Amino acid sequence: MRIDIITCLPKLLESPLGHSIVKRGVDKGLVEIYVHDLRDYGKGKHRQVDDYAYGGVAGMVLMVEPVVACIESLRGKVDYDEVIYMSPDGEQLSQPMLNQLSQQGNLLILCGHYKGIDERIRRHFITREISVGDYVLSGGELPAAAVVDGIVRLIPGVISDMTSALTDSYQKDLVAPPLYSRPASFRGMEVPQVLRSGNHAEIASWLNRQAIERTKARRPDLLKK
Ligand code: SAH
Repeated sequence: MRIDIITCLPKLLESPLGHSIVKRGVDKGLVEIYVHDLRDYGKGKHRQVDDYAYGGVAGMVLMVEPVVACIESLRGKVDYDEVIYMSPDGEQLSQPMLNQLSQQGNLLILCGHYKGIDERIRRHFITREISVGDYVLSGGELPAAAVVDGIVRLIPGVISDMTSALTDSYQKDLVAPPLYSRPASFRGMEVPQVLRSGNHAEIASWLNRQAIERTKARRPDLLKK
């Protein structure tokens, strides 16, 4: 799988994509991730990428020319399954969406910044728009990092024990059961006996009941599905 990201602030992505599981996926050769600096396609000697919005609307807008030049240059080399724009009014990011995206071949993700991007880009060059929630952040970089992280951890081989990723919250319309590690007893707070029993069938059924209880308490909407 290959993921290309276009941003006017590449530094914002360095750390989120340079550690932990995403880094492991890249190091293992299971995913290629390239961050492209929109400024390399900027206009004039100042490499301008943003300009005032028409109509006296407050805030700067990422300009159509640099963004399209960058998209077209990448599309000349790579066939993308989706050209994604991170946007607060997009389709809400979810686990089923990540499961589906992790099965794609090549993705291109465009991060907006400032007030947003020229509408002509969205109309004519974007195939999918994704939101991380009903709130507004300063740029699409952190949302894009969330999408990339969520995808990469699902690529077979990235997490050594795949059952770990598949037993996380939202994979089965349930949230995850509680977790415990050593020590078995801490200031009188005990790890539930069943988890230490070694009886795998009993443990599995306990974990399943806990997941259902927790989903009832925290996310009853999921059980209605
Ligand atoms: N003016 C826009 C918000 C712009 S925020 C509006 O009112 O809808 C600047 C950029 O941050 C956006 O272009 C988008 O790429 C990104 N962004 C902000 N919030 C986001 C969210 N919830 N999900 C995905 N991207 C978001």
